[in-house]
Amino acid sequence: MTEFVNPYNFVRSEYDPKKTHQPLPHNQLHTKHYSGRLTCTLTTVSRVTTESLDWKKGSCIYGSSLKGVIRSVAEALSHSCLPLGGKKCQRADSLCLCCRMFGWLDKGNVYMGRVHIGDAKPQGSGWSEQSAEYIEWQALSGPKARHRPFYNSGGQARGRKFYYHHDPSKPEQKITKTKPHGQDKLSIAKANQVFSFAADFADLTRPELGLLLYALQLEDGWFHKIGKAKPLGFGTVKIVINAVELLPPNRYEDWDARPTPLESLPLSAVGMRQSLISTAANADAETIWNGFSTEERHIRFIEAHVDEFFQQHFGVSHQQRDTLSHWRDLRHLLRQHPGYNIHYPTQGWFNDLANKSVGLPNPEEVEGNPPGDRSKWLKE
Ligand SMILES: [Zn+2]
Repeated sequence: MTEFVNPYNFVRSEYDPKKTHQPLPHNQLHTKHYSGRLTCTLTTVSRVTTESLDWKKGSCIYGSSLKGVIRSVAEALSHSCLPLGGKKCQRADSLCLCCRMFGWLDKGNVYMGRVHIGDAKPQGSGWSEQSAEYIEWQALSGPKARHRPFYNSGGQARGRKFYYHHDPSKPEQKITKTKPHGQDKLSIAKANQVFSFAADFADLTRPELGLLLYALQLEDGWFHKIGKAKPLGFGTVKIVINAVELLPPNRYEDWDARPTPLESLPLSAVGMRQSLISTAANADAETIWNGFSTEERHIRFIEAHVDEFFQQHFGVSHQQRDTLSHWRDLRHLLRQHPGYNIHYPTQGWFNDLANKSVGLPNPEEVEGNPPGDRSKWLKE
């Protein structure tokens, strides 16, 4: 009898309608908010399928796909609505944090988002696989009927779905060189390739910017998953924010105001005095800021804003984040687990009446108590 983990599981994150607000109007000036650009690199850790290749433009991983991936992490973390398959915001004057940041659309009503993610472009050549690969036909025509107990627990939807990261040293599953009838070849970026992209933002509050920074870069050892064939082992990537540029607060009075690198701005324009003072009692914040190296300013800016998000949204500091059960679920699903045996149950498993009401163990049960305990894993 082998034990295995289903390719996906759920972050137990519930939509909290008490956290909805009127969004910021687009037709007013918001000098106390942040606008600017984050320049990022994306490194493929495993192989990644790309939407389609456009050689003329040279783009590879579309910004719209990246935005979806980053938004889903932000939604799960912030108890925002789950537009795909869960409860969603109903009224334009009462939107969750993610709808206010990334945009909202419902039956002809629209709130334009304040975050824009550009396409990720390869930094070098030779990044794509040249030989044709396809997904095995059986994998595509596999068990279609949803096994309901995987998606519901006690009559409740289980939360936000994420796919596990597979061990990048192992080959992906169900991939073939033989072309099945009518199937297009997969466009694949090799592992360990570097891409770059920009995330532009307008009029974000400090906690909103903190959530964006967090959802982009994640924690050390956490990864995003992007593209097709995620359950088969594709799609693990790491995003790093390399540069932060901000529009100065006087941008409405100064024609020449332009996005300025964080390290060239005075502390007053960076707007994080309070958080600096709290970590350095009785010291002059401006002097401390001016004494920081470029790298220190970059790190402190991200840390301070991430902390503001946790403090404002959950009333705990970033350091106390493991008291949040949905954050622990996210940690479980976004980390790599090299020892895990990850695949779907077989058709025989689904057909076995004994498994008819077998549900998914939640992330904490999969990890085990003590960690590594496999008593709650699925068996076949
Ligand atoms: Zn929403």
